[in-house]
Amino acid sequence: MHRKLVVANWKMHGSLAANQQLLEGYIQRLKPLENVDVVVCVPYPYLGQAQSLLQGTSIAWGAQNLSKDLAGAYTGEVSVAMLQDFGATHVIVGHSERATAYCESDENIATKFMQAKSHALTPILCVGETLIEREAGVMEMVVAKQIDTIISMYGASMFAGAVVAYEPIWAIGTGLAATPEQAQAMHEFIRGRIAAHDKDAANSLKILYGGSVNSQNAVQLFVMQDINGGLIGRGSLNAEEFEGICRAAN
Ligand code: PEP
Repeated sequence: MHRKLVVANWKMHGSLAANQQLLEGYIQRLKPLENVDVVVCVPYPYLGQAQSLLQGTSIAWGAQNLSKDLAGAYTGEVSVAMLQDFGATHVIVGHSERATAYCESDENIATKFMQAKSHALTPILCVGETLIEREAGVMEMVVAKQIDTIISMYGASMFAGAVVAYEPIWAIGTGLAATPEQAQAMHEFIRGRIAAHDKDAANSLKILYGGSVNSQNAVQLFVMQDINGGLIGRGSLNAEEFEGICRAAN
């Protein structure tokens, strides 16, 4: 059985003062929870702050995006080596809020995933369908295409030790989480899709559920067989609420 993983995605929230308070809350509240891994993905400018406050604790930190290129004339981009300079261990790749607003293609996302993986940073690949796609019954086809792009460009072994977050777009920030059964069905589908190419990679992969997880619905989701934890947006911005979610995973 996989050890559960809970990842906070702060999105574009925070300030030096607010982050300090929130991280101190995390450190104090999550200390007794020894059976769950926790990562907090902060906005780029706060990676140094996360490093200085979280170093020596059991909480790891990461970023919400990275460049597909390693270095060069790419104004505004941040490379994998820069994230590592600040001790980041994880990076979110292909979050739907970025894919939609910044027109990220599946191919670009696949390259970012490969860059993270090749540099020993754990990529957290976000996949998921829109409400229209779910209502049309094509959600598996949509998610399969996101997964298959990585498999065809870089091979299924890329998924070994990586993280996939199933985030139905209709559930993100809406207060309307997927049911445990809906999430489990898609998680099983994702694992099976990768297992068809590489069983070991599929077994070592953690698949998180993301989309309106809170301290009330977390347990029902986390008990499902293929749900290995959660990617948490709004629920991570309050230390008490986040503790409740981590406690459910613990
Ligand atoms: C997210 O955007 O990754 C997310 C899961 O957000 P929320 O928890 O707020 O739905």
